[in-house]
Amino acid sequence: MARVLVVEDERNIADALRRGLAAEGFAVDVALDGMDGLWKATEVEYDVILLDVMLPGLSGYKVLEQLRADGVVTPVLMLTAKDGDFDIADALDMGADDYLTKPFSFVVLVARVRALYRRGARTQSNIMEAGDLLLDSTRRRCERDGKEILLTAREFGVLEYLMSRRDEVVSKTEILASVWDENFDGDLNIVEVYVRYLRRKIDVPFGRHAIETVRGAGYRLHRDGG
Ligand code: CA
Repeated sequence: MARVLVVEDERNIADALRRGLAAEGFAVDVALDGMDGLWKATEVEYDVILLDVMLPGLSGYKVLEQLRADGVVTPVLMLTAKDGDFDIADALDMGADDYLTKPFSFVVLVARVRALYRRGARTQSNIMEAGDLLLDSTRRRCERDGKEILLTAREFGVLEYLMSRRDEVVSKTEILASVWDENFDGDLNIVEVYVRYLRRKIDVPFGRHAIETVRGAGYRLHRDGG
């Protein structure tokens, strides 16, 4: 399901967007100011962000600028007021993907959101597969059997490395070198700890064994997903 973030301080518009988009089959989160919008957009993976320009605290421009500076590539549709001093060229320069002027037709808005969603899904995905286990490196998303699995950054890194070398035996040293900071001088056992965490998330609930322990050598992630 496509996940949309609505950043809009006018509560009636935000509520109408939430209800309308939910009825169209989107999962919708709402942020009522720029700071909360920025926080949500950096913490959660959205497919499309609707961003009002005039927001209390942090303007839509600033939110957009910060998101792009942080490397968040989610498509952004700016919502602007007709009488505002909105500059389309500025917004597009800053990385907005589209804009709509209020008051807008809801039908048009949904069409634009769908278009951005399709475009985003095409350009952002970099998916590795092992059976029904999917890992999208660009969007930092993991799925198994169609269900999203939430991984920490470190768990994601370990799984990403194992998947990039599917069917090979990978040593703990190699995983450590790839996923941890080069200055990390801790114990190799940290890798075992993270493999255990991963198994609890990607294997155990699904009754699978994607990650095999190869005694004395390391781990192997099976191409068929175990
Ligand atoms: Ca506003």
